[in-house]
Amino acid sequence: MVQRFDVSSRFAAGAQFTGGRLGSGASGRTHTVVDPATGESVLGYELADPADVGAAVEAAGRALPEWAGATPAERSDAMHRWAAVLRERTGEFVYAESLQCGKPLKLSEEFDVPGSFDNVAFFAGAARQLPGVAAAEYSGDHTSFVRREPLGVIGSIAPWNYPLQMAAWKILPAVAAGNTIVLKPSELTPLTSLMFAEAACDAGIPDGVVNVVSGTGPDVGEALVGHPDVAMTSFTGSTEVGKRVAQIATAGVKRLHLELGGKAPFVVFDDADLEAAVHGAVAGALINSGQDCTAATRAYVQRPLYDRFVSGVADLMREVRLGDPFAPGTDLGPLVSHAHRDRVAGFVERARSYATVVTGGEAPGGELAHGAYYPPTLITDAPQDSEIVQQEVFGPVLTVLPFDADDQGIALANDTPYGLAASAWSRDVFRTGTAARRIRAGCVWINDHIPIISEMPHGGYKASGYGKDMSAYSFEEYTQVKHVMQDVTGEARKDWHRTVFG
Ligand code: NAD
Repeated sequence: MVQRFDVSSRFAAGAQFTGGRLGSGASGRTHTVVDPATGESVLGYELADPADVGAAVEAAGRALPEWAGATPAERSDAMHRWAAVLRERTGEFVYAESLQCGKPLKLSEEFDVPGSFDNVAFFAGAARQLPGVAAAEYSGDHTSFVRREPLGVIGSIAPWNYPLQMAAWKILPAVAAGNTIVLKPSELTPLTSLMFAEAACDAGIPDGVVNVVSGTGPDVGEALVGHPDVAMTSFTGSTEVGKRVAQIATAGVKRLHLELGGKAPFVVFDDADLEAAVHGAVAGALINSGQDCTAATRAYVQRPLYDRFVSGVADLMREVRLGDPFAPGTDLGPLVSHAHRDRVAGFVERARSYATVVTGGEAPGGELAHGAYYPPTLITDAPQDSEIVQQEVFGPVLTVLPFDADDQGIALANDTPYGLAASAWSRDVFRTGTAARRIRAGCVWINDHIPIISEMPHGGYKASGYGKDMSAYSFEEYTQVKHVMQDVTGEARKDWHRTVFG
């Protein structure tokens, strides 16, 4: 399934994609994409600067009248062709995504790449279903209807943890609704965003509908958000950077969509299927090495199951095979960079003074010493108000705390600033139903943790942001609603004139 290729020659022209062409950035500064499994260079490219942002926004603006003026059926056809071109290139996407992020092949093959391509197929269909309300004669003399119109040029900013999926989540609803877009991926992981945009043009989507600028946040990201011709910003990333993006967008009175950090609780009631909960916690905490905004990070387990849950999770974590993402059988690859690995390790080191590290907590040596590896790590006894329970670690680290009454478990689940996702585990539908109702998060899984589907919305409560990715709900973000009211009698204006002015 994986198809290796020479990344340097593929991106010899540069890592910017503007108006249908790959080109070089104008900043005069080179950035190196690094394979986190080895620390070796994958690609050196010229970063974009604000002038490149201007050129990309201009290209998107030029493409807008034709794309916004196309019928939904025409946009849908083009997006179906895009999905077909992407599927032919599956092996290359699997390779590039695993290489730039350190994802085990099976994760890229079974989750990132097919999930992203399914999103293209979903939005190709959904492009034809942009309903508005038609209201027959509310006023007696008028018929009203609602037009859903695109906003214009969208500026999107994405993180490094799921580069392809995040590009898909940002680009697809925007272009399906008739907008054009400039995407800024993380400078660490631009490869699959560029390939995704190239495939759109190869499928016949007009040049300039999808553009990619590869640059750093403070210069290129801020220039994109603040650009006067960008109508809306959609941002996925940390809550801290989201606040800065919100300040700039608000100053320009722009629509804003924020998908921010998470700290998902995993609540296990005493009648849960313990084996399922243990497996769910390990998979939910370790997916993508824990670099997942919805990863299970805080397990709360009702006291009768607590000891068996902790020992079951610790045993299963010790069986996880950490290693080369391209080796068959690897379960867990490295973190995205050495700097991020050190940040995760710092959280665990500080936790040793107030909590118990049950397993993990030591970066491996030997043949893995050059990579950004960090092992599955289980922590108990950390107080609810400690940093490791409250802050986003974004690594393969799970904390576990016991609780007594159901209410207490739910209160602990709600006790962080975040509200992106959560799960509740029980055989009793009334207990899980109550948890689903009372947990303040944009998604609550019952007896599972992590699965997503293109048809259903993803987005946060509280400091996890607002707005929805995926699903038809995302069209709310990328369209504006216009009320059109028409006199159907020819008399309405005259009647009103008589009423008001006698
Ligand atoms: P980050 O906030 O550091 O960066 C995200 C993006 O913002 C990058 O492209 C970065 O270059 C850019 N950026 C940085 N500073 C900027 C600025 N001043 N102005 C404009 N753009 C700027 O996040 P990250 O480390 O790349 O990704 C991890 C974070 O993303 C985690 O907090 C995670 O929870 C979050 N995330 C959230 C979701 C979600 O759906 N809610 C999904 C994936 C990741």
